[in-house]
Amino acid sequence: MKQQEIEDELAEAICRFHLLVPRTKDGVLWLSEASGIFSVKSAYRFLLQDSISSSLFIEGDWVALWKIKIQDRFKLLLWRAMDAFPFKGKICALLNSLDSEASICPLCGVEVETGLHIFFRCFVARVLWGEAVWPLDAYHLQGDNIQSIIRMLSQPRRFLHIDKEMQCDFSLSAAIVVDTIWFGRNRVVHQGMDVNIRDFIIMVHRRFLEHSQTWRISAMFGCKVWCPPSCGQLKCNVDVALRGGVAVLAACFRDSGDSLCRLYTEQFPSINSLLGESSSLVAAINIASNMDWDKVDFEFDCQLLTRMVLDEDTLCGPLLLD
Ligand SMILES: [Zn+2]
Repeated sequence: MKQQEIEDELAEAICRFHLLVPRTKDGVLWLSEASGIFSVKSAYRFLLQDSISSSLFIEGDWVALWKIKIQDRFKLLLWRAMDAFPFKGKICALLNSLDSEASICPLCGVEVETGLHIFFRCFVARVLWGEAVWPLDAYHLQGDNIQSIIRMLSQPRRFLHIDKEMQCDFSLSAAIVVDTIWFGRNRVVHQGMDVNIRDFIIMVHRRFLEHSQTWRISAMFGCKVWCPPSCGQLKCNVDVALRGGVAVLAACFRDSGDSLCRLYTEQFPSINSLLGESSSLVAAINIASNMDWDKVDFEFDCQLLTRMVLDEDTLCGPLLLD
């Protein structure tokens, strides 16, 4: 798809969006001062700063990154985005073939793919950042390397003057954008799919909503800790993840000593979470039955599925009736 077509399609999609978080009034902030107000003194300090020392992660930055209230998977993702992903440009540089087509960013098809480019400078990434729940002008984020930008995003209060109570939403929004860019990039590279920015934007908003709702629910009911089953019993945890029209189900059996007895995963095309949850449970029951395990506790987090199993008045789908 040509860049112009993408931009037209995108402009249409953008006009249809409603922001989940109300925009605060736009304004100009001087980021080198905690008050956000420019002063000659702080400008002098800023110019004196050693650009190298300000760009590298130091111990306090790691602490700040691991302390963000987002899923551990997202923290790991932000860490990996700094240099652990197999960016095409990085691989080609190692092979001394940086000029080859193999080094080109799969999203824009123009620049060499590096972490800084694909997550913040590529036009696809910039559109996603601009249309995220917390919109950011990614191109103008200060920093000439990805470490300094991740450092800034992982400490939004310190570097971007985000209110304390808004920090979680900001970090979640940022992590979801990074995750969606990497997911979309892999879809193009490994599945040969087209770049569809509108889909990416929808995904960013949907996932933000899902994650923030889950955080709210867990804050309301407190954190549940997994408990092993009693002696002689097994416990099976089942769950499903939906992504890009695919459901990935998982069933995990553990014994009273917390040892893994069996793990099962399956992937099939679906956008229906209830169907996915039901399929996970059915697969887990079949495994238990085939293994002659008759003392198994099943644990899952889908309320409707729980009602279907426990409440005779709730209608089951055909999958569970079988
Ligand atoms: Zn690009």
